[in-house]
Amino acid sequence: MAVAIVGCASAPTSIALDPAAAPVGQRTVHRTPRSVVRATPAVRPAVPRFEYAYEPPQSADLKPIYAQVREADLWRQLPEVQAIDGMFVLPRPLRLVMAECGGAGALYRPAGTEVVLCYETLRALYERGQDQQRTLGLGEGYPLRYVRASMRFMVLHEIGHALVDLLDLPVTGRQEDAVDQLATILMLRFASGDETPEEVIDNMRLAANWLLSNSTGAYDLHAYADVHALGEQRYFNLQCMIFGTDPAGFADMVAARDLTPERAAGCEREMRQVVRAWLRLLLPYLAPGHEVYAEEAKRYLGWEG
Ligand SMILES: [Zn+2]
Repeated sequence: MAVAIVGCASAPTSIALDPAAAPVGQRTVHRTPRSVVRATPAVRPAVPRFEYAYEPPQSADLKPIYAQVREADLWRQLPEVQAIDGMFVLPRPLRLVMAECGGAGALYRPAGTEVVLCYETLRALYERGQDQQRTLGLGEGYPLRYVRASMRFMVLHEIGHALVDLLDLPVTGRQEDAVDQLATILMLRFASGDETPEEVIDNMRLAANWLLSNSTGAYDLHAYADVHALGEQRYFNLQCMIFGTDPAGFADMVAARDLTPERAAGCEREMRQVVRAWLRLLLPYLAPGHEVYAEEAKRYLGWEG
């Protein structure tokens, strides 16, 4: 089945994660100066960059997907991935590979220092997007938007696992929840410059929707014991982070039952706590040439002056 996945490469977007900043509807999206982000003078020590690969699939029905993502060079169309490529001083290069896996999914393989996104996942996302388009009467472009938003979240989640491993970051509690938080923070902060703040939030909602794809409401011991929280819990965790960026602006989420009032009451504090935690974890590994982000992080942490 052909899945036309064509993206657009743009400079990173900046959306303030500080809840004290302007409400989302009033926020302006501005481009981070390329001269700051891209500057890598030869005198600086080399920082391992991501390596991108597309492995040819064996299955005939996946070959059109492979041809399209390779033609589009999809890895280089993912704005958050491009924004953080070279941002951290990793001990060795991280390989990002699209491959046939035998089933839908994405994973981080420590042995190969590689994040794998399965072609089957792109197909499953497209099919779920089509189902929702038909069921809910959504626009023609919906299935592709669904694919792009969800795959961005999945890849960033796996890159989170890679950062924990490669940088030996401390994690207490469930790592799966921690890297969901990082993926959310990165999607809010480093979306494409072509995306409005509303589109960025919409991407997050589409990604959260995917977490419900295996939801049955009836769980067994394996589900309760799993390293992942239940899909519904991951969904509401993401909703809480979205709400936490602008509680007043997203007040309707509670009425729409995307959050309970009890959880919503703490989401601003929750969001601030996870952003502060990830900034403190990653700041020591910021690569030369990214001082602008160090300054931004220190302001957020209240470390300036
Ligand atoms: Zn995971």
